[in-house]
Amino acid sequence: MSGRSVDVLVVGGGLAGCAAAMTLARRGARVVVAERLAYPHDKVCGEFLSPECADRFGQLGVSERVAALRPPALDAAVLSSPGGVIWTARFDRPGMGISRRALDALLADAARAAGADVCERAVVTGISGNLDAGFEASIRAGACEQRWKARVVIGAHGKRSSFDRALGRRFLRVRQPFVGLKAYFDGPPLAGQVHLHAFPGGYCGLAPVETGHTNVCLLVRQAQFAAAAGPRGDIESFVRWMARQNVLLGDWLGSARRVSERWLSISQVPFMPKPALDGDVLMAGDAAGMIAPLAGNGMSMALDAGMMAADYSAALLDARLTPSDVRRGYADAWRRRFGNRLRLGRALQAALLRPWLLEPGLRFLRLAPLVGELLVTHTRDLNMNGHIGSVL
Ligand SMILES: Cc1cc2nc3c(=O)[nH]c(=O)nc-3n(C[C@H](O)[C@H](O)[C@H](O)COP(=O)(O)OP(=O)(O)OC[C@H]3O[C@@H](n4cnc5c(N)ncnc54)[C@H](O)[C@@H]3O)c2cc1C
Repeated sequence: MSGRSVDVLVVGGGLAGCAAAMTLARRGARVVVAERLAYPHDKVCGEFLSPECADRFGQLGVSERVAALRPPALDAAVLSSPGGVIWTARFDRPGMGISRRALDALLADAARAAGADVCERAVVTGISGNLDAGFEASIRAGACEQRWKARVVIGAHGKRSSFDRALGRRFLRVRQPFVGLKAYFDGPPLAGQVHLHAFPGGYCGLAPVETGHTNVCLLVRQAQFAAAAGPRGDIESFVRWMARQNVLLGDWLGSARRVSERWLSISQVPFMPKPALDGDVLMAGDAAGMIAPLAGNGMSMALDAGMMAADYSAALLDARLTPSDVRRGYADAWRRRFGNRLRLGRALQAALLRPWLLEPGLRFLRLAPLVGELLVTHTRDLNMNGHIGSVL
């Protein structure tokens, strides 16, 4: 059993974790990131980065690294119903498509360059302590069990993790009825657009990424997946069924070829509210709450929340905030910044999953473009002000 002592332990080296780590390291904090996997690794994600991600990359000082990937610019989203009703939303400035394999590795490198210690294949299995006394975490790194001490812990471990179990988080008690799937395809060019095609019980996104392939990523109700995939859970049977449910999606898939060896899948995707501060751990990104993927805003929120958790951690380390200030302020600030977007995302997803509601909805949006613009704006984070407001 070996040990170490740091200012901040970040659990998870995805978007939120790397954003938190590089922000803190640049301010001189001793930060260690424990990431369960080795880089690079794939993730189930639509890989569409909303326009404001460019601002986040600017704040994090990684714009040049991101531009070097030469990601395709995406300036509109096309939404279609099973019956072929289409609505196109144009963005005020382009978003982009980047594989998570490249993006997460890039951010981990940038965190290291900033001075953070990013430990790969290190799983945080347990935690004790609090913001007053500091924390002690159990880490499994290969065959070694270690105990690390940290003044602050940031939970950036994603939507569902063994770390949630270690904290006994309540949301784990509720069964979540969604399955996610992702694979890369070569198919007809999408002309700088991201596509979202609805089918009964789910929706499927198509996004071009920097490798030249198109990421096909979908979310579907577990029951619908089981019914279409058959008793053996055959993904290909499900995909054939899905392609028959939406005219545009069927046409595209019919002319496309899967280039990934296999589909990547996840189950039990949780969309319910979660506390942003749990067991005195500052949660960031999906660990604090997951926005419905159709909003295309999860990655921007994760980067933003990582920086916000870093701001609060730094203020505690510098004694500008007390543990009580952080307890009071962080969860409130999180709710103010992200709460409405999460609620709107859930409502829009509920509509998208119901074709009888979706078709008239899309027809209405075609007639009332301003309403569409408002919906897009309200699922996005256009407020770029600092994170710690009234608590200081
Ligand atoms: C089907 C689907 C499609 C989506 N499409 C989009 C999209 O197109 N655009 C968009 O903006 N968002 C999209 N999202 C949302 C987006 O993927 C997430 O919001 C984003 O990945 C959150 O980043 P994060 O850093 O919070 O978590 P993650 O990126 O999941 O990172 C968490 C990290 O923690 C690590 N970890 C977990 N447990 C431990 C542990 N115990 N110890 C150490 N490490 C641990 C994991 O290995 C992982 O690397 C989609 C989500 C889904 C499910």
